[in-house]
Amino acid sequence: MSTPATTAASEALFERARAVTPGGVNSPVRAFTAVGGTPRFITSASGAWLTDADGNDYVDLICSWGPMLLGHAHPDVQAAVAGAVARGTSYGTPTEPEVELAEEIVARTPVERVRFVSSGTEATMSAIRLARGATGRDLVVKFAGCYHGHVDTLLAEAGSGLATLAVPGTSGVPASSAAETLVLPYNDRAAVLAAFEAHGAHIACLITEASPGNMGVVPPAPGFNAFLAETCRAHGALFISDEVMTGFRATAQGGWGLDGAIEGWVPDLMTFGKVMGGGFPAAAFGGRADLMSHLAPEGSVYQAGTLSGNPVATTAGLATLRLATPEVYAHLDATAATIRAAVSEALHAASVPHTVQVAGTMFSVFFREAPVRDFAEAGQQDTAAYAAFFHSMLDQGVYLPPSAYEAWFVSAAHDDRAVSTILDALPAAALAATT
Ligand code: PLP
Repeated sequence: MSTPATTAASEALFERARAVTPGGVNSPVRAFTAVGGTPRFITSASGAWLTDADGNDYVDLICSWGPMLLGHAHPDVQAAVAGAVARGTSYGTPTEPEVELAEEIVARTPVERVRFVSSGTEATMSAIRLARGATGRDLVVKFAGCYHGHVDTLLAEAGSGLATLAVPGTSGVPASSAAETLVLPYNDRAAVLAAFEAHGAHIACLITEASPGNMGVVPPAPGFNAFLAETCRAHGALFISDEVMTGFRATAQGGWGLDGAIEGWVPDLMTFGKVMGGGFPAAAFGGRADLMSHLAPEGSVYQAGTLSGNPVATTAGLATLRLATPEVYAHLDATAATIRAAVSEALHAASVPHTVQVAGTMFSVFFREAPVRDFAEAGQQDTAAYAAFFHSMLDQGVYLPPSAYEAWFVSAAHDDRAVSTILDALPAAALAATT
């Protein structure tokens, strides 16, 4: 792959976009603020490839920030969606695809009941409300660097776009909301014990990413999630595992498949999104039947949505999960391993300090030598080196996340041609990172 001949069409679209949309984008990290330059306006996607408005092709390592597990425009998912669209796009009544998708999620994870919503943000927001309603307590514990969507209570020291833009929080969140959130350093048992010691009787829940991916991939230390589940239980608080990113992605059983399924503990509540929507706006939260029965119409915790469980979105999610077989996860594992090894080799050859971290099929590359265990350490990487690496890869036809704080995603459609395009681009990108 050569340097794109032109990006004129993307530049023109970005200019038009900025005239009508703040920053020209509808979600901040897309804007390339952290790496500079013009985001590519994508006009179509197929398999592992994106095509932009200038006709340039890119191997996609963003995969819509996680959802496109099978690759873009999978024919069977397209056919299922076309069938659903032909039957009408939204009825505001219960439908069979919702039941089938809920059954699929219940079969793959430890949750007993599922409620659908339209975004991961809604899922975590609703799970927090449910936890507060069920416990009668207000305080929420979260970890710095974990991103749970743009929920007021959960934006403090969040990762993802806030990390990319280097802002600790956001304006527009009332001090009273922020005061209800205790933010702790990730992987720090002593901090967790101290917080529960001081506030345990008032803590409704602790929410954590099952395996954080929004400060880059920072896996839990062995036993950390089990310790969190146990600490919550000891204090009558609920343990919420946010699997919006990891769910059906890190493994067939999500992040829980990496530890809970093996160690034998279950979260009280879980949140899902991304992959389970098959590229459509669908997300969910779920948990034990007794807890979920606090939700209206069974219980007193209100939660609702005009498009919740939308038949097109749930059909896409169902088709995706049914096609996400053990062979698919084996392919993702092998492909991710090949890319990781090649990235490391190229950066090593160019003497670029780096560390590659893994959670199942998810991984990310930190531009610093030592392992990253928390948000503070993630912040010690060389983001300028990442920006140079990113642009060289982009010029050679590989679309990485435009931020050093994001996971890299592969899909079932990343075949030999896509992988060789990535591998061929790496030596020059590694050299670019040294300048
Ligand atoms: N939770 C996690 C772990 C996420 O990674 C995200 C999004 O990246 C969210 C919640 C929010 O999901 P959404 O962007 O669909 O609102």
